[in-house]
Amino acid sequence: MIEVREALGLVLEGLPLLEGEMVALPASRGRVLAEEIRSPRDVPPFRNSAMDGYAVRSADIAHAGAERPVRLSVLETIGAGSVASQPVGDGQSIRIMTGAPVPEGADTVVRVEDTDAGDVEVAVQVAVENGSNIRHPGEDVRAGDVVFEVGRILRAADIGVLASIGVSVVRVVRKPRVAILATGDELVEVGQPLGPGQIVNSNAYTLAAAVEEVGCEAVVTGIVRDRPEAMREAFARGLRADAMLSTGGVSVGNFDFVRSILAELGYRESFWKVAQKPGKPISHGRCGTTPVFGLPGNPVSALVCFYVYVVPALRTMMRLRDVHLTALRATLDGEVSSPERLTEFVRCALDGPLDALRARSTGSQSSGVLRSLSIGDGLIVSPKGESKLRDGSAVRVILLRPDLGSAEMPL
Ligand code: AMP
Ligand code: MG
Repeated sequence: MIEVREALGLVLEGLPLLEGEMVALPASRGRVLAEEIRSPRDVPPFRNSAMDGYAVRSADIAHAGAERPVRLSVLETIGAGSVASQPVGDGQSIRIMTGAPVPEGADTVVRVEDTDAGDVEVAVQVAVENGSNIRHPGEDVRAGDVVFEVGRILRAADIGVLASIGVSVVRVVRKPRVAILATGDELVEVGQPLGPGQIVNSNAYTLAAAVEEVGCEAVVTGIVRDRPEAMREAFARGLRADAMLSTGGVSVGNFDFVRSILAELGYRESFWKVAQKPGKPISHGRCGTTPVFGLPGNPVSALVCFYVYVVPALRTMMRLRDVHLTALRATLDGEVSSPERLTEFVRCALDGPLDALRARSTGSQSSGVLRSLSIGDGLIVSPKGESKLRDGSAVRVILLRPDLGSAEMPL
């Protein structure tokens, strides 16, 4: 059986990268930049005041003090958005508000708090260093600077930077469309009454939400029954998406047809079964260039496999650089036993400050118990070859936060 690291390596090999599309700036939050952005202009675009005060010549106030205020005439008052009608000369000042262009002749702004706030004449009570309280053109961004590189996920401050340099439309990576097919004769949709032997198709809802959390578009088809014809038809349709996920039907049961149906559709399987728990029966491969993940039906197995394999694949297709989930170091509270032949992902809660985290198991590790994943924050990695993690030992925890990325494999 293949190991987790090796399997993850195969998943990431030769994935198709998605092309860009233009979107209006307000729609770009959370999207991935598909172009390098160079600033066409300086920010700020002109020399302006950082304070409400008086624009002066610093030489005039070099000897000002609380006991010996220097009196200057006030030529006019300018607010942000207006420009002085005259330069500042010796013995003169212009009253200026934050953001207004500093007038010609002035080299310094004195804060209003350091004056008597006069209208016609002002008494400056402090000697302020030349150049004080002035913001210079290009101090924030210089024309020609590369402000963002391809692969950046745009956040609020980034969008502000783009606006300030005048970018109103931006090229972002097209969102991958991810088809989700839940297979199983026992499944019914949420809200429907349960007949004998039936359960809710929770996987489709979990995975659709998980796909959206990564910034992709979920294309959910109805329940696919465990019959070859139904599967063939649904899978052929699912393969029109950029990636396809199925759940159930990949194990060794009598009605586990997923792999054989995929094979009829040209599936080249790169692995089936990984030395891990949960999620051992996962199948992965390609149809053409489209990545296909045959996820196990157990809800925890499906979601853990999604985090470990599908997230890095989708993030790669989205041209992100740091595609893996983030791993943290933590101290184990309590003892965890796990099968020695497998890598086990143990659902855990995290407590304490980031540099002194404590991890404890959230209880039942049965692959049907989704609650213990829902209340958890991460997955303790119990490496192959370990049968017991002792109380107080240092453990690696995969943080279940697909919005954060890491350059390194988490195990
Ligand atoms: P399978 O992999 O098809 O053998 O399914 C394994 C277990 O997962 C069974 O107990 C199924 O009932 C359950 N299961 C399969 N598909 C789903 C689903 N879409 N939602 C919730 N549970 C499921
Ligand atoms: Mg099934």
